[in-house]
Amino acid sequence: MMAETGKRRLRAELTDEGSMRVALRLAAEAEERGEVPVGAVVIYGQRIVARAGNQVEMLKDATAHAEMIVLTQAAAAVGDWRLTECTLVVTKEPCPMCAGAMVNARLGRLVYGCPDPRMGAAGGALDLTGHPGMLHRVEVTGGVLAAECQASLQAFFKRRRQEEKGTRAHAQAGE
Ligand code: ZN
Repeated sequence: MMAETGKRRLRAELTDEGSMRVALRLAAEAEERGEVPVGAVVIYGQRIVARAGNQVEMLKDATAHAEMIVLTQAAAAVGDWRLTECTLVVTKEPCPMCAGAMVNARLGRLVYGCPDPRMGAAGGALDLTGHPGMLHRVEVTGGVLAAECQASLQAFFKRRRQEEKGTRAHAQAGE
């Protein structure tokens, strides 16, 4: 039911914000599975051809970031590893691994939600997507629904810190 409503709305208008809402939903689903809440989609020809949340914990794989997974899915959907005509939409500024993969995939455009000044590689901490020495430059639009994207991550990390504190308190009490 939900998926059908979503599809109809997307067909009507696939804006950056609309795509980001889908990515946010994927991030929330990832969080329910115990993952860091990051979600991503890839748009090709006005259609979402790839969608995924973080799967690091589920796959026990440090490379299973949402962006890596949708790049692979999109290549399969497009039938080419070159994703020049594609837009990748992700809730958080990509890390160096994912930004590097986007350059390698010749991604046309990247849209991200909240910036990551510590690890972001699309201009936040470093700039791989726009590096002059790279063989390809990705067009970047940041800050789409940034507040919502940031709030979901901050809530997650706050909860995790509290849980860790709780565990430590129990350990100190000899429980
Ligand atoms: Zn990453």
